[in-house]
Amino acid sequence: MTLEHIEKEVSDVLHMGKPGGVIEPVRLEKDSPFNFRCYPGISCFNRCCHNVNIILTPYDIVRIKNMLGLTADMFLQLYTTPEILSQTGLPIARLKMLDEQGGRCPFVSPEGCQIYSDRPVCCRYYPLGIASLRQQNKFSGEEEEFFFVVKEDHCKGFEQPTEWTVDSWRADQEADLYDSMNRGWLELLLRKASFGEDAKMPEKAKHLFYMVTTNMERFRQFVFESPFLGSFAVDNNTLKKILKDDVALMQFGFEYLKYVIFGAESDTIRLKKDVLYKTVKKIIKKKHKKKKPKI
Ligand code: SF4
Ligand code: SF4
Repeated sequence: MTLEHIEKEVSDVLHMGKPGGVIEPVRLEKDSPFNFRCYPGISCFNRCCHNVNIILTPYDIVRIKNMLGLTADMFLQLYTTPEILSQTGLPIARLKMLDEQGGRCPFVSPEGCQIYSDRPVCCRYYPLGIASLRQQNKFSGEEEEFFFVVKEDHCKGFEQPTEWTVDSWRADQEADLYDSMNRGWLELLLRKASFGEDAKMPEKAKHLFYMVTTNMERFRQFVFESPFLGSFAVDNNTLKKILKDDVALMQFGFEYLKYVIFGAESDTIRLKKDVLYKTVKKIIKKKHKKKKPKI
């Protein structure tokens, strides 16, 4: 796989929101050094926060909407555009830039990013891009991760003498936390991508995927105020956690989607036995009906 292919895969999924960035064809390891400093007062300050192509991960949405004190409904309506992610055919939320103001990010101000403590993962990683070479099987866990630098022409941060390694930059940006929070969602995207972009997914399943990965209030309602718990067995500890905690609910959502959309095993959730028997019976009945020769 070439760096170009990897960049395409990764940029579509997550880390690279910066159009026009030039990828340095140098593979960086965790201890590789690079120079960079971004600070208020640098001549290019805030220039990178315009016309940025940012896919929000479920964890980004939870952090930002909670920081702003908004419901997910309000946050999604005000700040995002729903979109189908190429290569997967799955719906995601993209951060909406302000058309009328030179395409600026709605969160940038003369003082810098107004949501800095909760900024999206792609803003944290810049100027690093991350690529993952998966060996053999996409879900086997055997993967080799490496990094590269994305240089934008207007970015003067690279001219600064402050030295980082990939590791020290990632630690400074809380990358481990964000990566662990995003893992379940990325796994879902990769699962779907492995079936090919054209593999059909019913509209109902797409709506479910979007709701579960973007809107914790609606998903919570769906779990606790619909026949959901009549169909699925979920242990009491998990129920207690997801009743109050958005992050726990988000992670439960990844397990739920993995189970109901991709048919994968889950330790957290399963169809209740009586519902399972009924479902199997229905499927068999349907099959028999189809097979009956017409007279
Ligand atoms: S140094 Fe680079 S990242 Fe920082 S404000 Fe300037 S363009 Fe943006
Ligand atoms: S979220 Fe913050 S860092 Fe990211 S583009 Fe917007 S203003 Fe810039």
